[in-house]
Amino acid sequence: MHLRIWSLVMAALMLAACGTDTEAPAEAGADRSQETFRWTLVTTWPRNLPAVGTAPERLAEKVKVMSNGRLQIRVYGAGELVPAFEVFDAVAEGTAEMGHGAAYYWRGKIPIAAIFTSVPFGMTAQETNGWLHYGGGLELWQELYEPHGLVPLASGNTGTQMGGWFNKEINSVSDLRGLRIRIPGLGGDVYQRAGSTSVSLPGGEVYTSMQTGVIDATEWIGPYNDLALGLHRVGRYFYYPGWQEPSATLEAIVNKDAWDSLPDDLKLILKTATRAINQDMLDEFTARNAQALKTMVDEHGVELRRFPDDVLNAFREHSFAVLEDAAGRDDISQRIYDSYMSFLRDAQEYARFSEQAMMNVRQPPDDQ
Ligand code: CA
Repeated sequence: MHLRIWSLVMAALMLAACGTDTEAPAEAGADRSQETFRWTLVTTWPRNLPAVGTAPERLAEKVKVMSNGRLQIRVYGAGELVPAFEVFDAVAEGTAEMGHGAAYYWRGKIPIAAIFTSVPFGMTAQETNGWLHYGGGLELWQELYEPHGLVPLASGNTGTQMGGWFNKEINSVSDLRGLRIRIPGLGGDVYQRAGSTSVSLPGGEVYTSMQTGVIDATEWIGPYNDLALGLHRVGRYFYYPGWQEPSATLEAIVNKDAWDSLPDDLKLILKTATRAINQDMLDEFTARNAQALKTMVDEHGVELRRFPDDVLNAFREHSFAVLEDAAGRDDISQRIYDSYMSFLRDAQEYARFSEQAMMNVRQPPDDQ
């Protein structure tokens, strides 16, 4: 409690020093091309953690250059201004103008928000981006956050994740009972239904929790980022496939009043830079994951394991139940679920004749 009060005091002091600073007040029809804005961005990620932690820094740099210095964003890593899991509230309350994190961290407040990060057995990054930007997904996300005074934008994607780190083998569904695993989002509920205990921890706490045995297993992202966190040193078996996060969208959230205060060109710059970062992160993970997995296996002796089919079947069944539970809570949740599932059905059908069909023939059958 003391820590929380202290962090709020610090936040107030730092904001007084470097918060919103509009140097030329707007008037209707006035030339706003000389107005400058100095914003604070708080993240759920450890500062400069590769890809997820560098994304907000890259976003801030792009926006600064594109706006010729008119919109300057100062980035604070998790715990520097507010704790990781207080980012949503800090931006909603205006303690910071922006945040960078993942929507599934807020599902305690808004259960359906998890869909905007990832859906177990759901869409790939490519399909998700199609849904968000050409399938009505982003509009629904913005409608969902509107009552909280926030404007969300897609701002990063990890691509398909790995199943996670386990210190004992998972050979059957009975091995899931009693397992203590760090996994946020809908995947966490799936493990709960399978008899495990799931917890949501920010990235900065995952390593220590595994090392001290507070948890028996954890998922984080995939080879590139997990190597950076050192998870290969605290987990023995690296499981696949990452059914729980076939892709994961990261979010940039903007305080609605701060958003409304921007002139149109800065709004467009922020949207465009965010969209660029959304793709940039996926490109970085795509480029680095393969090499990182080789490093893990060849240099660190990491053992890869595939979840058995009966375990995957159980995960899939629980996933549908978990999703329907989140959807049935209110009208907006149901509409988000319906929109996602309808897009997924079409994407899945098309994939049979496109990516999936091509992937199946890319290698000779003996090599698959
Ligand atoms: Ca994950």
